[in-house]
This record gives sequence, structure tokens and C-alpha cells, in this order.
Amino acid sequence: MTEVVARYGTATGYGTAGADPLERLRAAGRAREAAGLRRTLLPRDGGHGGLVDLASNDYLGLCRDPRLAAGAARAVRAYGTGATGSRLVTGTTELHAELDRRLAGLTGTAAGLVFSSGYLANLGAVATLGGRDVLVVSDRSNHASIVDACRLSRSRVAITPHRDVAAVESALAGRDEPHALVVTDAVFSVDGDVAPLAALHRVVRRHGAILVVDEAHALGVVGDGGRGAAHAAGIAGEPDVVLTLTLSKSLASQGGAVLGAPEVIDTLVDASRAFIFDTGLNPAAVGAALAALDVLAADPGLPGRARERARRIASLAAGLGLETTRDPAAAVVPVFLGAPEDALRARELCREHGLKVGCFRPPSVPDGRSCLRLTARATLDEAELTVLGGALEMIARSTGRSLHT
Ligand code: PMP
Repeated sequence: MTEVVARYGTATGYGTAGADPLERLRAAGRAREAAGLRRTLLPRDGGHGGLVDLASNDYLGLCRDPRLAAGAARAVRAYGTGATGSRLVTGTTELHAELDRRLAGLTGTAAGLVFSSGYLANLGAVATLGGRDVLVVSDRSNHASIVDACRLSRSRVAITPHRDVAAVESALAGRDEPHALVVTDAVFSVDGDVAPLAALHRVVRRHGAILVVDEAHALGVVGDGGRGAAHAAGIAGEPDVVLTLTLSKSLASQGGAVLGAPEVIDTLVDASRAFIFDTGLNPAAVGAALAALDVLAADPGLPGRARERARRIASLAAGLGLETTRDPAAAVVPVFLGAPEDALRARELCREHGLKVGCFRPPSVPDGRSCLRLTARATLDEAELTVLGGALEMIARSTGRSLHT
């Protein structure tokens, strides 16, 4: 309570008839705090407070790379510190157009369009391709930005069980709407598993639908040269496949994109509110993302190194009897601990070992599935993995799961 008063002050000046309008927010905050569920900001310094980073989405370790900083600085010198307007007005520089093309080239799609975040790319793709005459079929574990995009689409939305192709097929077969969209994460953001993209595409093709694949956690990590999960599944260039992605994870910048057939991209330029009414992506972010693509092209082994570190992390956890993904296909490795308090304790244990890890609790994950979210980095070294092994052993002991006790 003292903490709440210190942060919010005390409410004064409300008449007897008028209740303090912020009290319901404080009460909700206190209840979430008591349940170990309250989310707070965790500011970081230039590094990660001296901790080893196993929490960020900087999968290729490029966030402090001087080549990216130089790319950002060049873009700022050439185009200034702001995009200055919508991409339809003054916000498309030559660098934006180059990034549109290069992202399409990397992923094997026909055309691309850079948005100012991955979140907005999903809103743009799903809301614009959806509508009242379009059924949207969405995996129950899809990212929150896809969930919001579905809501915004005004479509009827069928939520299907996780990675369940048969359920997708029956939703498509039983629909009344003339059109349909199937939307899925390529790599699921907490569980780290991969969608059955080839099978989903066969179903989508049979039913005349469009498949939207969010490559946020796959780009730069999955497939040869990090070309993404749709490319690895052999479906990226198909006209009925649309990709969305973020520049903020493996490419260590900021921003997002939608990739697909020229008809799709032209439609977004013409009709996507998340594109038209948003200021174009900051030139610095465009410059950094282009430099990241150069680094990726010059060092095609980077994605493989990130994946190898993820497999090492998963086998450390599994070897101790902790519940994890056995064979991670990308850089995300969850360690499931069940109750939120157990996950918070495990995060604290990691911190004591000098490790920064993600800690996910409801409603970000289903009840009983609170977990640590460990992320691999291509640059993670042996010493760091050894420290992680020690921390995981303590966690396994403290949860009574250790195979060694
Ligand atoms: N999709 C997925 C699967 C994500 O994990 C995220 C980011 N957490 C996004 C989209 C949103 O991307 P951005 O952070 O660029 O808005």
C-alpha cells in the first residue's frame, strides 16, 4: 500500500458523490501484484545490467554491432531523424524502397512493404485482407498482435487448437463466407515450436483461402541464410501466401513488413489503415535493418549458430528433467514451471547467477503454463552456457524436478 501511495499519491478533492476514478486501477494493480501477475518495466542500461542476455530477441547478437550503428548513422545523415510523414506522402525514402525489395528477395516473395512495426504489419495484413465476407482462422497460440488484428478485421474468427491442421480444414470447409484467411505464427513466440506450414498451405490451396504467416521469430534464424520458415517449407513465393515480419528481433532494428504477391502489396498501400495513417519507419531503423541484411548475407552461418545454441539450452534443461521444447527449431526455448510464483523464483535464481531471462505468466501464457523464456544468441559462448547449466540445476532442485537428486 505504501508503494502504491508513493507512486500514485493520495486522491483528494473528490466530492462525496464522486468516487476517485483511479481507485479501480489501483485495486486491479494490487490484486495482480498479490497474485504474482503484475507486469512492470525492467529498464536496461547500455548492456543488460552486467547480466548475460538470455531474454532479448537479439538472436544474432547484432544489436551493438558497429556495422548496424554505421548503417543507421548514414541513413540519418542522408534523410534526417524522422520519416516526416506517411509512406504515402513524404515517408518513403529510397532506403525504404530498397528495404521493401531486399526483404522480399531474402524471403523469396514477390514484393514487400515496410511498416513501422511488426505489430502494425499484422494489423495491416489481417485487417485489410479480412472483412465481413472473409472467415479468419487463427491458431489459439498466435501472438497478441494477430489476436488484435483478427478483432480489427471485422471477420468472424475461428480459433483452432494449436498446430491442428485438421481443425483448420474443417473450419474452412464449413464456412459460409466466400473468402477465408488462415493466420499463424511461423515460430510460436513463447513455446518456440514451428507451425506445420506445408500442410497448412495444402489445406489453404484446396479451399481457395490465403495463408498469412508471421515470420517474427523465424526470419534470420530458420532456414538457409535465415530466409524464414515459409521459405524453408517451400511455400514463400506462392501467390496465396502472405508473410509478416518484424525488423526488431534477429535484424536488431525496429519496424515490420508484409511480403507477398504484388496484388496484396498494392492493396495494402491503397487500403491498410495501419500503413496509410501511420508515419513511415524512421530512417535510422531502415538503415540499421539494411546493414543487418548485409551482415546476414556476408555471414550465412549466423542463423545456424543461433539454432545450435538453442538446442544446447534445451538439452541442458531437458537433461535436468525440466519441461522444455525437446528440439527447438529457432532461438526460443521455454522452461515450463507451472505456477507464476515458481517462474518468478526461477527468474530470481537466474539473476543471482548473472543471467537475464524472460518470465512469462498469465495472461501472456495459459494458466498453469508460467515459464522462463530463454532465448539463444548466435554469440552465446561456452562459459555463458555453463553458468546457465548451473542456474537450471538450481531451478530443477528447487522445483523438485532434478534428475540428479
Ligand atoms: N509477431 C510476433 C510473433 C511477435 O513476437 C512480435 C513481437 N513481440 C510481433 C509480431 C510484433 O513485432 P514488433 O515488436 O515489431 O511490433
